[in-house]
Formats: sequence, structure tokens, C-alpha cells
Amino acid sequence: MKKKAVYPGTFDPLTFGHLDIIKRGSKLFDTVTILLAKNRQKNTLFTLEERIEQIKMILEEEKLTGRVNVDCFQGLLVDYCKQKDINIILRGLRPMADFDYEFEMAMTNRGLNSSIETVFITTDQNFFYLRSSLIKDIAVMGGDISSMVPSSIEDSIKSKLANR
Ligand code: ADP
Repeated sequence: MKKKAVYPGTFDPLTFGHLDIIKRGSKLFDTVTILLAKNRQKNTLFTLEERIEQIKMILEEEKLTGRVNVDCFQGLLVDYCKQKDINIILRGLRPMADFDYEFEMAMTNRGLNSSIETVFITTDQNFFYLRSSLIKDIAVMGGDISSMVPSSIEDSIKSKLANR
């Protein structure tokens, strides 16, 4: 049976931290679906469509297409998993701040469907401080974010901020 994982998140925008989890996840699982929620009430810098396009471009640049794909959904993550016959939820774990939230989400999803396992990959030491929200703040103030996001994302952030 194929090992299929889903990597859910907001990815506003995708960072080198996310990309590292995707690459490492793609070595563990046959397929990884990067999943963006349609119904999140989050105030994002990029629209859902923009984030999907950005991710598609990076998957091509990184030659990850085939094994890794991107999708979006409305509703419960466990329902998406059931629909697509996926039983692994992949999440990245950074020190401290992530733990309580991730633990709670994993418990909740397990409560909703115990045949779906959440698997955590711990962050790489080079990326543990990377957070999309912080990167956007740095960009707003003109800071250098080239070591934090792929260059195509850096360009998108710059043009988005310039057009605001
Ligand atoms: P969410 O809004 O669901 O937290 P994010 O896009 O912020 O979505 O993150 C998606 C997943 O990627 C989460 O599991 C998060 O912990 C993980 N993640 C985010 N940044 C990093 C990083 N720098 N290193 C490792 N994992 C990360």
C-alpha cells in the first residue's frame, strides 16, 4: 500500500522551513500533498490562489512534482484524508512555541479519526527560527529575507508590498 501523507498549513508564504519539511517528508512517504484550507478565517498577505501558484512553481524549481503536489480543501482535514485515502498528517515541529498547538491538533484529529496518524518532523537547526509572519514583518521594514524564502517568493512579497 502506498504511504500517502498530507502536509496542511497556511503557507503565507512558503519558507525554507516548510520546504525542508516537504523534502524530508517526500523521502519518507510515496506522496506528499501540501494542503491549504479554503475556509480559514486568517488574514493572509497572499490569496489562496496566489499561494497555490507560488507552491506549484517551487515544486517545479525543486523537481519535486510527481511525488509532491498541492491542493486546497474546505472542511475538516480528517474528511479530506478519508476522501483521498490518506492516513498520515505531516507537520513540522519547531522548539517551544509549536508544541502545545501541534499536540492539541494531533489529539483532536486523532479523536475525530483514530486511523489517521500525525507524524512530526523536527525542524532543521538552520530553519527553526523561520516563521512566515516574522518574515513578512522583516520584509515590510526592508530587511533581507533572501536566506528565509525561495527567491520567487521573495519577489512575490516585494511586489505585493509595493502594490499595497
Ligand atoms: P499553520 O497555520 O497550520 O500553523 P503554517 O504554514 O504556519 O501553517 O505551518 C505549517 C506547518 O509547518 C506546521 O506544522 C508548522 O509547525 C510547520 N513549520 C512552519 N515553519 C517551520 C519551520 N521553520 N521549520 C519546521 N516546520 C515549520
